[in-house]
Amino acid sequence: MKNQVQLITYVDRLGGGGLAQLQTLLTGPLAGVFGGVHLLPFFFPIDGADAGFDPIDHTAIDSRLGDWNDLAALGQHVEVMADVIVNHMSSESPEFQDWAQRGDASPSAGLFLTYDAVFPQGATQADLLSIYRPRPGLPFTAATVKGERQLLWTTFTAKQVDIDVQHPTGQKYLSSILRKFADNGIRAIRLDAAGYAIKKAGDSCFMMPETFTFIDAFATEAKALGIEVLVEIHSHHRRQIEIAKRVDWVYDFALPPLVLHAFAFHTAAALKSWIAMRPTNALTVLDTHDGIGIIDIGAEPSDREGHPGLVAPAELDALVEHIHKNSGGVSRKATGAAASNLDLYQVNCTFYDALARNDAAYLSARAIQFFLPGIPQVYYVGLLAGQNDVALLERTGVGRDINRHHYTPDEIHRELQRPVVAQLLDLMRLRNTHAAFQGQFSLLTSDDTQLHLRWESASAEDAQAQFAELKVCLRTLTHVLTCSE
Ligand code: BGC
Repeated sequence: MKNQVQLITYVDRLGGGGLAQLQTLLTGPLAGVFGGVHLLPFFFPIDGADAGFDPIDHTAIDSRLGDWNDLAALGQHVEVMADVIVNHMSSESPEFQDWAQRGDASPSAGLFLTYDAVFPQGATQADLLSIYRPRPGLPFTAATVKGERQLLWTTFTAKQVDIDVQHPTGQKYLSSILRKFADNGIRAIRLDAAGYAIKKAGDSCFMMPETFTFIDAFATEAKALGIEVLVEIHSHHRRQIEIAKRVDWVYDFALPPLVLHAFAFHTAAALKSWIAMRPTNALTVLDTHDGIGIIDIGAEPSDREGHPGLVAPAELDALVEHIHKNSGGVSRKATGAAASNLDLYQVNCTFYDALARNDAAYLSARAIQFFLPGIPQVYYVGLLAGQNDVALLERTGVGRDINRHHYTPDEIHRELQRPVVAQLLDLMRLRNTHAAFQGQFSLLTSDDTQLHLRWESASAEDAQAQFAELKVCLRTLTHVLTCSE
């Protein structure tokens, strides 16, 4: 991946058009701002039960967005990353419908994961209780397959039926997606919800050794096609460090809550200890289409003493309250059980609102993100320093929609004029082009009310040395950035 800022966006929510319009935006007003783009699901359909994470046809572009030629054309300007939704597909897919009708006689037999396939002897209470879930309830849904009632695995919504990724039919399905992507110029994939892909009786069914084996094999297949792999897993920070050793790229999901923690409590102590240990083959984020991850800095739920979090439990609770307060109480309506949510351990709020719409603090947070080793990703709402979309939340009842606004072209034009947005774009262009960011990173010593980060492109004695230095004050939530010309 290019060492430049990447955009994460839904194709249709940033300007209301398709791939061609997005290209016009990226090569026009946003020229030089992004080296790559993670296109959130653009498969058919983009408006199912989980905003495209429930494909009916994973190899077809929703015609409302354009076609594969448009995507290949976009790929000529920016590196394109796309999701491979490895865990599940829509119950409305032709594959599922055919299997439900014809059972074993269907070519899709074996593609979907049944309860019986994992628990051929039935499950004990202990088996079911050991399954890791970020939400209450069990991951099963009843369906009629060739006239018979059966339980199927459905980790997310009842309409997203889990795939048996170890069955040859499941493997064939996933390989066909990779090939389609490779043929159309997609350079990187995000393995969506990869931690849940393998199920095993009596185990957690989340990030087990067998899950790693699956990820390794799939990543090898992708790499043979020239595709890099980002693995999406929310988990305890130690586990994220371990995962990072085995894959191309992980997300730094600890960063958003830690930056908010540093700003809320005016101390960089927890953030600094994370900077000292965090993996650097990471995509840094402050916001994504999902919520702000709380488990990423908390204690391991099954072993709180043995695996403490990056911040103490009471501080974590206070942080969540602080975000709700900063958002004027609005994020509370979108978070946890207050709305329909796939993940109860995330706070749904735009990052700008989580910082009480404080422009200086917002730019300081972005500067920290851009100064940390890794590839920075900026979510389209964050790009425009967007506010919570309460109307959308109220219309759909989906918690995450508070941070999934649909921007019209006029709105984009207007938002781009705001000083905070213009300054953010400047910062991103600097991050993309300044030579210092190709060099060495250091966390400089400072007291914990300060955070000092520095990049140097060559040894200090070298006359050609390039540097960029960031000093953030956690008392005033402001920063000073200095750099060589
Ligand atoms: C995605 C979510 C989605 C879930 C199920 C996550 O990785 O980020 O938006 O709901 O997977 O596909």
